[in-house]
Amino acid sequence: MSRIFSGIQPSGELHIGNYLGAVRNWVRLQHQHPSIICVVDYHAITVSYDPEQLRVRRRDMALSLLAAGIDPNIATLFVQSTVPEHTELAWIFNTVAPLGELERQTQFKEKSARQESVSAGLLTYPVLQAADILLYRADLVPVGEDQVQHLELSRVIARRWNAQFAGGQDFFPEPQPLLTPARRIMGLDGQAKMSKSLGNTVGLLETPEQIWAKLRPAVTDPKRVKRTDPGTPEVCNIYHLHKALSPAATVEHVAVQCSTAGWGCIDCKKVLHESMLAELVPIQTRAKALRANPRTVDDVLASGTAKCSRMARETMTVVRERMGIT
Ligand code: ATP
Ligand code: MG
Repeated sequence: MSRIFSGIQPSGELHIGNYLGAVRNWVRLQHQHPSIICVVDYHAITVSYDPEQLRVRRRDMALSLLAAGIDPNIATLFVQSTVPEHTELAWIFNTVAPLGELERQTQFKEKSARQESVSAGLLTYPVLQAADILLYRADLVPVGEDQVQHLELSRVIARRWNAQFAGGQDFFPEPQPLLTPARRIMGLDGQAKMSKSLGNTVGLLETPEQIWAKLRPAVTDPKRVKRTDPGTPEVCNIYHLHKALSPAATVEHVAVQCSTAGWGCIDCKKVLHESMLAELVPIQTRAKALRANPRTVDDVLASGTAKCSRMARETMTVVRERMGIT
């Protein structure tokens, strides 16, 4: 049976882009496949960060994932740095990863353009990601669209390692991405994809008032200047959020009201606000309960580490043997 692995950086709070592009899929798929979900803190240190804040965010991210519906009775949740084999395999994969392809990665180009000083870790980020996935020999990786290119590289690395060290056998599978229809949620400013590191997010645990304060000024169809101008739903970020969050009948109604100027953008946003809260309130209620019982998160993470450590050791025994390292 296919095994799922996916990760998220503790680089800020869990937002609706992460949720609609990836996390909601993890929650659905955990019932169909053995699933490993990882808070990837070694990835989060590839750009400048505050160590004290990282400690807090790592825990908050684990709590948010549980609140969002990751069920520790069926899925495995753990923190990357508690299983050191991730970095060992990453080093090994550094020796088979093609440098030219690393330099061509869009995320590297975008993130390095925002950094004063670019670390080698930012360049080799996808190598660590390949190690994360292949350490558990996972073959399905539910992610947002921005990770598809990284997964191509994971497949190159798996192929190269298999060819050099496994006599061409598929010791490592070639992991495939799994996307949702909401594979790329834009930030509310309409400028770039919603990202923790860009500060253009709607957090899953924000209050209704905070969310409305962000939704109200959000960019819509730029050609809809006056209230009476008909809009084009497909070019509007708010419409795409409706498609991910509102019931089908509401989505249809929104499209008609927008394209006939029946509603103004504020009317449309009010309905989206309601749909968003319907999805987020149960998550926020679970988050509150988890905060009241902090031991729950620690226990889940500890058992995740124990299970993943066992699996990681098994993989590394084979890898070291094949590579003449032991
Ligand atoms: P950072 O800005 O630190 O890179 P991020 O918001 O991009 O943070 P990641 O931890 O890099 O979040 O990614 C976690 C998962 O969320 C990945 O599967 C990624 O593809 C997905 N994801 C991130 N942003 C979006 C988005 N705007 N739309 C859909 N999916 C997204
Ligand atoms: Mg990202």
